[in-house]
Amino acid sequence: MKVIDLINKSDRTLFSFELLPPLRGHNINSIYRTIDPLLEFKPSFINVTYHQEEVVYKKHENGLLEKKTVRKRPGTVAISAAIKYKYPDVEVVPHIICGGFTKEETEYALIDFHYLGIDNILALRGDAPKNQRTFTPEKNGHAYANTLVAQITDMNRGKYLDDELQNTFSTNFCVGVAGYPEKHIESPNLAYDMKYLKAKIDAGAEYIITQMFFDNRKYFDFVEGCRKEGITVPIIPGLKPICTAREINVLPQIFNIDIPDELVKKVMGCKNNEEAFKVGIEWGIKQSEELIKFGVPVVHYFSVGISENIRQIAKSVF
Ligand code: FAD
Repeated sequence: MKVIDLINKSDRTLFSFELLPPLRGHNINSIYRTIDPLLEFKPSFINVTYHQEEVVYKKHENGLLEKKTVRKRPGTVAISAAIKYKYPDVEVVPHIICGGFTKEETEYALIDFHYLGIDNILALRGDAPKNQRTFTPEKNGHAYANTLVAQITDMNRGKYLDDELQNTFSTNFCVGVAGYPEKHIESPNLAYDMKYLKAKIDAGAEYIITQMFFDNRKYFDFVEGCRKEGITVPIIPGLKPICTAREINVLPQIFNIDIPDELVKKVMGCKNNEEAFKVGIEWGIKQSEELIKFGVPVVHYFSVGISENIRQIAKSVF
C-alpha cells in the first residue's frame, strides 16, 4: 500500500523507521536484527537509505596514492526487495538519489522497483560525497530533487525518457521528499528552502519526512510555515535518539540543527555513553509523546543500525 493511503486511512499516529544498508562485506542479517525487535509495534513502513559512491585514496607502499571509487553501503534495491518479501505486512520505502545517477539510470532503477512490486519511493538529491565540497550532478543527471520527482511523476503517467516508446505501462509510485525544519545547510534562509520544498510537492510528491530535530517547536513552526506557503501534504517528523555524548557536537555540524540547552546539559552530565544512550531514549519519548498529542501522521525514527533505543521509545508511546 502507498504511504499516503496508510496515512489517510489511519485515525492514529503511525510508527515507521529508517535503516541504513550494512557496510560492504557485512551481512543482511544485521538488517533483520534491527527490524525484528521493532515488529511488535507494527511499523507501517520501513525506509532504506541510498548511498552514493565515494572517492577514497589508497596509499601504496611506494608512497603513491591511488584514487578509487567505492560504494560503502551498496544494496538498497536488493535489501528493499528482501524486506518486502520477508515482512509482507510492512511497506518498504527505498530512497533514490540524484547523485551518481544519469536520468537513464534513474529510469532503470525505477523500472526495477516497479518490477519488484515496490510502490513507495523517497526522492532525494543526496549530499556531496565525502572529499567533495559541493554536490555535482552527473552529466544528464538531476541537480535537485524536484526534477527527480517530476521524472517519477512522468513515469506514473506512462511517460518515459524515450518518447518514441509506445504502449508504455504507467508506474504507480507514491513519492515522499525531505524537508528541513531548521533549513537545509546550503539554503541562505528558511523561506528560500521552503520555496523549493513547494517545488517538490508541485512536481508530485505526496508527503514530506523531516530532517531530525530535537526541539519540537522547530517542527511546529515548520508545519505552520509550510501551510502558509500552500504546502498541504502530510509532514512526517523524523526523530533520531541521541546515542553517544559525541553526537551533541557532531550532529549540528552535519545536519545544521540546534540541540536544546536542556538536552546538551543532560548529555554532558552523563558519566559514559550508556547514560547518554538512556538520556536519548528519555528525550525521544518526551518528543514523541508531544508530537503524537499534536496529531502528527507518523513518527519516523532514524535507526542508524541500532534498534534498542527505538524499541524502548516505541514501547512507551505506541
Ligand atoms: P533538494 O530538495 O534538491 O534541495 C537541496 C538544496 O538546494 C536546498 O538547499 C534547496 O533549498 C536547494 N534547491 C532545491 N531545489 C532547487 C532549485 N530548483 N534551484 C535552486 N536551489 C534549489 N541522503 C542520501 O545520500 N541518501 C539517503 O538515503 C538520504 N535520506 C534522507 C532522508 C531524509 C528524511 C532526509 C531529511 C535527508 C536524507 N538524505 C539522504 C540527505 C539529503 O540527500 C541531503 O540533505 C541533501 O543535501 C539534500 O537533499 P534534498 O532532496 O532535500 O535536496
